[in-house]
Amino acid sequence: MSNSRSLALHWKILIGLILGVIVGLGINTMWDASTWNSMGVDDPSSWVEGVDTETTNQEPSFVAHAALFIRNLNSFVGDLFMRGLRFIAVPIVVFSLIVGASSLNDLSKLSRIGGKTVMIYVFTTSVAISVGLLFANVVKPGTFVSEEARDGFVAQFKDQADSKVAAAQAPDVWDTVLNIVPKNPFEAIAAGNMLQVVFASLLVGIALTMIKREKAVVVIRFFDAMTDVIIKVVEIVLMIAPYAVFALIVEQIAELGLDILGSLAVYSIVVVAGLATMMFVIYPIGFKVLGKVPMGRFYRAISPAQLLAFSSASSSATLPVTMECCEQRLGIKEEVSSFVLPIGATINMDGTALYQGVAAVFIAQLYQMDLTIAEQLTIVLTATLASIGTAGVPGVGMIMLVIVLQSVNIPLEGIAVILGVDRILDMCRTSCNVTGDCMVCALVASSEDAIGDPSESRSTAQAGTGSWEGQPFDEDPPEDGRIDL
Ligand code: ASP
Repeated sequence: MSNSRSLALHWKILIGLILGVIVGLGINTMWDASTWNSMGVDDPSSWVEGVDTETTNQEPSFVAHAALFIRNLNSFVGDLFMRGLRFIAVPIVVFSLIVGASSLNDLSKLSRIGGKTVMIYVFTTSVAISVGLLFANVVKPGTFVSEEARDGFVAQFKDQADSKVAAAQAPDVWDTVLNIVPKNPFEAIAAGNMLQVVFASLLVGIALTMIKREKAVVVIRFFDAMTDVIIKVVEIVLMIAPYAVFALIVEQIAELGLDILGSLAVYSIVVVAGLATMMFVIYPIGFKVLGKVPMGRFYRAISPAQLLAFSSASSSATLPVTMECCEQRLGIKEEVSSFVLPIGATINMDGTALYQGVAAVFIAQLYQMDLTIAEQLTIVLTATLASIGTAGVPGVGMIMLVIVLQSVNIPLEGIAVILGVDRILDMCRTSCNVTGDCMVCALVASSEDAIGDPSESRSTAQAGTGSWEGQPFDEDPPEDGRIDL
């Protein structure tokens, strides 16, 4: 993808991110009403409103035009990149999972990988909420916010909070499981429902191992080649990643600034400290015990995905890059990554879970509620369930929080208090979510001996090399196309 003399992708993305923060803060600082009004920009609290000549009664200045152009260019580049990522997400899962599943000529291996994956995901999610609860109970961030500040936030963000509450729907376990099976696979693909897409692709992949090899080979070769094609598309889209990250960050920081942290600083620090503990203490411990790749190599390999998750606040949109990092840069075999990562993007949200633990206790503290141990355990259970079946898109953690608060009768209006800082914390927790997905993928791959040398990865190997679990494509599987059930 890059020649050895050019800077590695993760450095380029990091530079884009840092420059984005600097420029974003610069624009935010210029948001002084008088300065902007004199330039013909109407609403200084939102540069996205642009220029309004009617209220200012003057022609927009050159600087105002330039500001508006830069704003439009930024959101164009950012949106273009996000569209590119969304474009890839479903095809890469469909193609690579069909090939991956069809290469497993033993269903017991698949159920073993599936069992491990779900178990580790649920385990890490509950550890994450517990870390969040622990931090919030020890630091008590709610005691750092006065009642006036609390009521001020409630008044300011009431409408937005109401819409989050309206969007929340308590999960029903039966429906959640039933919903994994699509009524129409094409509808699932069109809607990008990841769990349904995974289910349909797995089913096709498994069925391919059960039919006559000479027929299966035609289909597998097609999907194998399509996987190579889509990986190339990922590489093409990634070429604009550093610029897109810059654009996405400028837009967010310019709008938010850091003032918003104000009285919510302690709460925000607790969330970020919890996420850092998860990413730099808990995961490495798990990795040390079960992983088979050096920690440094792991973090270097997944850093583009982490940075992108931070900039986009969407683990679903980051999925193609997460897959690329795990397969091409870390050397995890497709049969594991194409299964573990898409599931993770939906059911594994460690950062979001941790954040919900902190937020629930924080809001309870704002309303002088003491949560009992039983109530805190209810939070662990509800937050774990709520994360299953919820796609990783920006802000969804807030909607899941409504369900968590409802489960222990914490006042829902408390949501309004933390809305202002949600986007910044969303970026941080999404980065943790994606790190967790990669970690579990690496652990499962280590336990299956499915992690090797990245130089043997698909993009460097000859496309469609014609083997299938070490067997040439044109040979029939054992027992006349049947696999062990
Ligand atoms: N934005 C997060 C993700 O995509 C979910 C959330 O916490 O809102 O993983």
